[in-house]
Amino acid sequence: MKFDTAAIHIGQEPDRETGAVIPPVYLTSTFAQLEPGKTRGYDYTRSGNPAFDRLGATLAHLEQAEYATVFGSGMAAVNAVISTLSSGDHIVAEENIYGCTYRIYDQVFKKFGITISYVDLSDPANYPEIGKQKPALVWIESPTNPMLKIIDIEAVANAAHEAGTELLVDNTFASPFFQNPLALGADISLSSTTKYINGHSDCLGGVVCTNSEDWNEKMIFAQKAVGLNPSPFDCWLISRGLKTLAVRMKQHQENALKITDFLQSLEETDAVRYPFHPSHPQYELARKQMRGGSGIVTAIFNLPFEQVVKLISNLNLFSLAESLGGIESLICHPASMTHASIPKAEREAVGITDGLVRFSVGIEDADDLIEDIQTALKNL
Ligand SMILES: *Cc1c(COP(=O)(O)O)cnc(C)c1O
Repeated sequence: MKFDTAAIHIGQEPDRETGAVIPPVYLTSTFAQLEPGKTRGYDYTRSGNPAFDRLGATLAHLEQAEYATVFGSGMAAVNAVISTLSSGDHIVAEENIYGCTYRIYDQVFKKFGITISYVDLSDPANYPEIGKQKPALVWIESPTNPMLKIIDIEAVANAAHEAGTELLVDNTFASPFFQNPLALGADISLSSTTKYINGHSDCLGGVVCTNSEDWNEKMIFAQKAVGLNPSPFDCWLISRGLKTLAVRMKQHQENALKITDFLQSLEETDAVRYPFHPSHPQYELARKQMRGGSGIVTAIFNLPFEQVVKLISNLNLFSLAESLGGIESLICHPASMTHASIPKAEREAVGITDGLVRFSVGIEDADDLIEDIQTALKNL
């Protein structure tokens, strides 16, 4: 079955009892048992609910996975994976990982004796670090945030397996429509379903997909025992959003390409990055492992800090907000938002300059989005 069809039908069969085409949501914390210990398959929502199973079935299929476990947020999914580690375990992570993943290692799990080191895994010359450091897990994202670096998933998976360890890929930015890390050799594909998978910026969720029975058991345990379960209603919303993932992603990509061309034509930009634009330094690698470039475009404006802040404030269609992957366009200025607490010199060392702006291009008409940027620049 093709992706677009599976996103609508797998796990989403009409209700057996009533024929309701949209399966109902069971807003219940607990389930009546037939006799002590004998259930109809569910006992308590922290350890399972039909909405978790339906969403999990769709996501497993789309990620080309045997198993998918859903969680209350992307960070709950991250927490679920890290909670399986033990004191003394080490992680090798790509140096450009999501800020809150960095924070949970640094401020929560470090206290429990789990160590992490950051390596530039976009450079194959650094692969031997994996063998040297003997990590319990290698952790990458591709494309990365906000620099949109592409990491060679297949090559890093091979390097990890040769070193006797496993690879986790945070697939949030690409979504399963454009990239399937497990098919490229990764052991775990994790996503924040808050972003493209739900796509409507109205709830949070996370998922861990794998072909390993062992990892699946650990994830089911984490869902119920660590209390990382989602809400049944949020799963119902995410299942609804997921049905249009294919059409949304095609439009995100079409708009992002137009915005990239437009931004590159401006005198006010020094560099514009989009993984599926021939100007991206890793365009060939992006095409090797992805089917499309998603909806994030990063631009470096050659304007002073105050002017960049003014430009962003002048926009009407791009809301200034954290998050990404929704149908509506958003804009983020890492230097004054997500990375504001990091000293300027440190920030710039990882590429977060004052002029760097991240666009999460929505599915509005691209001409309207371009006009909005043009007007904002005119009014500086
Ligand atoms: C947003 C995000 C997360 C965390 O997801 P939440 O749903 O916000 O908890 C993890 N990884 C990446 C790459 C993200 O963009």
